[in-house]
Amino acid sequence: AVAKLASPIVEDERVTGAVVSFRDITERREVDRLKDEFTSVVSHELRTPLTSIRGSLGLLASGALGAVPEKGQRMLDIAVSNTDRLVRLINDILDIERIESGKIAMERQRTAVSKLAAQARDAMEAMAAGAGVTVTVSAVEADLWADPDRMMQTLTNLLSNAIKFSDRDGVVELVARHHGGEVLFSVADQGRGIPADRLEAIFERFQQVDSSDAREKGGTGLGLPICRSIVEQHGGRIWVESTPGQGSTFFFTVPAYSAEPSPPAADAPAV
Ligand code: ADP
Repeated sequence: AVAKLASPIVEDERVTGAVVSFRDITERREVDRLKDEFTSVVSHELRTPLTSIRGSLGLLASGALGAVPEKGQRMLDIAVSNTDRLVRLINDILDIERIESGKIAMERQRTAVSKLAAQARDAMEAMAAGAGVTVTVSAVEADLWADPDRMMQTLTNLLSNAIKFSDRDGVVELVARHHGGEVLFSVADQGRGIPADRLEAIFERFQQVDSSDAREKGGTGLGLPICRSIVEQHGGRIWVESTPGQGSTFFFTVPAYSAEPSPPAADAPAV
């Protein structure tokens, strides 16, 4: 496939020629593929030494090898928390690459919505308590046709953002309800909200509303792109509505489990 761009050459207000450039899109796809592969290899190679550094630092910081002077302890704590951030970043990069390329298959099975919602709330309990935020859950009695681990990842990502961007004493509401043949999840907070012109961009890699969000809130800017990949691989949709200053609500849909036999695979012989 070839893309064409033409721009006229104007001399003395007369068009005297045109510049046409051809760009081979197949070549661009190959570049994208190489870029993804490069990212994946580099991330793998970084993770191993980083895990070892994290181990040593953790041991030193815990005082297991003897007391560390106060100033040294502060430095070690900073080093540990920054190493943790790097590990999170690398894991997220690897995750998104593997989910988008289909290397991680969605292990779809019959999954109870209420169990999933309760598990997600339990997983976030410590973080919510630390931030002084209350998380409420209201889930319909229904089953999903979904990968439970990936659903947990999506819910905990959204809940952790909602808690992170809430004020103390804020309330975060997780709701799951029927929506045609799907289940509609929503995670609502009363936090700072998201400006209208960023509502779509934040689902792209490394996009944040505020450039200080990564540093101050400890995020990677990959949480929402990962959620979107997971939801789309399940055939669902994800979006956000927000009123700046009042809060945000993230929504996503996932197909409900149905007892009907699933349609024959595309390559099955027609009978
Ligand atoms: P991060 O790891 O930075 O949280 P995400 O992809 O999960 O990455 O989110 C991207 C950005 O979207 C965040 O850095 C923040 O600017 C914005 N954002 C996400 N969730 C919320 C929310 N509940 N309230 C306000 N802003 C949010």
